[in-house]
Amino acid sequence: MRFSKLKLTGFKSFVDPTDLVISDGLTGVVGPNGCGKSNLLEALRWVMGENRPTAMRGGGMEDVIFAGAASRPARNFAEVVLQIDNSERLAPSGFNDSDQLEIVRRITRDVGSAYKTNGKDARARDVQMLFADAATGSHSPALVRQGQISELINAKPKARRRILEDAAGIAGLYQRRHEAELK
Ligand code: ATP
Ligand code: MG
Repeated sequence: MRFSKLKLTGFKSFVDPTDLVISDGLTGVVGPNGCGKSNLLEALRWVMGENRPTAMRGGGMEDVIFAGAASRPARNFAEVVLQIDNSERLAPSGFNDSDQLEIVRRITRDVGSAYKTNGKDARARDVQMLFADAATGSHSPALVRQGQISELINAKPKARRRILEDAAGIAGLYQRRHEAELK
């Protein structure tokens, strides 16, 4: 599975629809302080099911919605679309019927978040599991926040093991076992 495009509308500073095309190889995003580079990474984490406002540098989940600027009113919703090239059919079963996989997450004020996968309504958990099995996802060690390296160095052994397990792609198995034990 390869991320091919990220589309943002009303997400943080990206009030107008914005497409980020992710080509083969390395993609770099450069720009002055405050132009929205970190917001892009947060959009990626958010569409994969991130539910901790702190991970989005906010106090509540609705803080990801464009809050308005001097010349522009606030928006009522934010939407992020992630397109994934699945031509190698490496997505988990249930997601493997097409060459392209599209995940949509939209949050509306006072309503909350809704997800779609390939146009069909989905639950947050479905989206989180889709990525948990692919050693990626909102908690993925592939997304490195500022200060995260020192967190890893200073982490207690149990917390450090979780990070290594995430990297190895077995986080989804733990989630399933936990749910099976609850049943
Ligand atoms: P740096 O180089 O300093 O790391 P950056 O390019 O990573 O900067 P971001 O932190 O992604 O910049 O963007 C910060 C900008 O996003 C700020 O100008 C902030 O006001 C704006 N912003 C964040 N949340 C919202 C929101 N909900 N509505 C409108 N603007 C927002
Ligand atoms: Mg930044």
